[in-house]
Amino acid sequence: MFYNVGMDSFDKLRLLNENMDVEEGFLSTRFFESCESMKIERQIPNVTYAKLPGGESIPLLKTMVSSICEKNCNYCFFRSGRDFPRAIFQPNELAEMFLKMEKKKVVKGLFLSSGILGHGIFSQDKIIETAEILRKKHKFQGYLHLKVMPGAEKDQIRHLMMYADRVSINLEGPNPDRLECLAPQKRYFEEIINCLQWIHEIRTSEFANRTFKNQWPSISTQFVVGPAKESDNELISASSDLFRRFKLSRIYFMAFSPVINTPFENIAAENPVRENRLYQASFLLRDYGFQMEDFYFDETGNLSLSQDPKTTWAEKNLLECPLEINKASKEELLRVPGIGVKRANNIIAFRQKNLIRNLDHLNFIGISFEKSGKYILLDGKKLGSQLRLFQF
Ligand code: SF4
Repeated sequence: MFYNVGMDSFDKLRLLNENMDVEEGFLSTRFFESCESMKIERQIPNVTYAKLPGGESIPLLKTMVSSICEKNCNYCFFRSGRDFPRAIFQPNELAEMFLKMEKKKVVKGLFLSSGILGHGIFSQDKIIETAEILRKKHKFQGYLHLKVMPGAEKDQIRHLMMYADRVSINLEGPNPDRLECLAPQKRYFEEIINCLQWIHEIRTSEFANRTFKNQWPSISTQFVVGPAKESDNELISASSDLFRRFKLSRIYFMAFSPVINTPFENIAAENPVRENRLYQASFLLRDYGFQMEDFYFDETGNLSLSQDPKTTWAEKNLLECPLEINKASKEELLRVPGIGVKRANNIIAFRQKNLIRNLDHLNFIGISFEKSGKYILLDGKKLGSQLRLFQF
């Protein structure tokens, strides 16, 4: 293996970016930027987009401090022992290159990860150092998503959290057995759950007034879906636990895709619809009050691929007993397909002055008859009879 041979900063960046999967809230759009600097335009292979909590999408440079890694995760392009050119950035070099791109308005934020070196402690220090240079020396105020390295120490995590808008550590598998299959050298509790526990402790027990933005960063994690043969039940159960225990902002699911010259190269790619169903389930857990018992799994422990989990719940619970839309609580309204947080709020606001009696009212509130009609009552009546009245 060789690294940094004959490479300038942009060569390294291209090499590192070309092989990073699109993950963690990045839209899959590959963005070939059109900045004034032809040098940057020519040399940067892609910039991805991150969606911020307020809904704004910003262009983000996603890169690594080092593509050298001492771990041998069975699905990963960067696993130790794979023979391909690798690169390492010095923190100063990476910070300055990022700022050049930011100045040219190619990117507005940075997602910084790394292969694991020095049991995670060395590479964690390099990520911290880069963030410190950006925040302290260059007063960079924009978005920083910083990766926690499995094996990092609590003080390092606290230091990292001083500069980050978001921190993340990937769990990869929903339990120790599945992680063992995916990443035999990673230790589920000691290296990953411990880090999540520390992040949570710091966020809940220490003042954030020493952080760069006077607030602690949000937390996310990611699962690799498919090759460890885990069920949706295992993934959703682990997700439920993570939301409850550590107040995660987001859980990402990456449908597996095989990489040549890895132990998993002959395993088929995972169906992206499954990934989508898992995202829907995680949003139901996080935002809609769903509990484990509200999901319906088949005999293999998986969700339906042909129907989203909220519709499955409604078919089994609301078809026979539709919900009176004029009396339902917000939590109940959120169970109806086609009604999300915004529409539930619209319904409650409308009800303060009027009864919801007909299709015109529903249309006004933004509720779709096709999506929600069969699960609700309007002033005691099923929407079928409303529709007949409407038609005559
Ligand atoms: S720790 Fe595993 S997933 Fe991360 S870069 Fe190394 S081999 Fe890849």
